[in-house]
Amino acid sequence: MSSLVKCPHCGLRPREEFTIRGEVAAPRPDAGADEAVWFDHVYLRDNPRGENREYWHHSGGCRRWLVLSRNTLTHETSDVVDASTLKAEGRA
Ligand SMILES: [Zn+2]
Repeated sequence: MSSLVKCPHCGLRPREEFTIRGEVAAPRPDAGADEAVWFDHVYLRDNPRGENREYWHHSGGCRRWLVLSRNTLTHETSDVVDASTLKAEGRA
């Protein structure tokens, strides 16, 4: 049985239509930041247990980038918004 994701543009769609990019990371360090800071930014992730904010691409539908919350224990998704909304609000 397929689980469904509520796309803000297309409505409820099967999860197979989406491509997961990964967690919503911290903002990029300054260009002149120390090499260790860049290493942490590029390679290290928290791998949280529970709610995690992630980028998903609706590659089989509207082709928009979305940001949603996914529970890493149950894989339930919630709070789906278009990624451009967060950028306009300065939260991404
Ligand atoms: Zn969509």
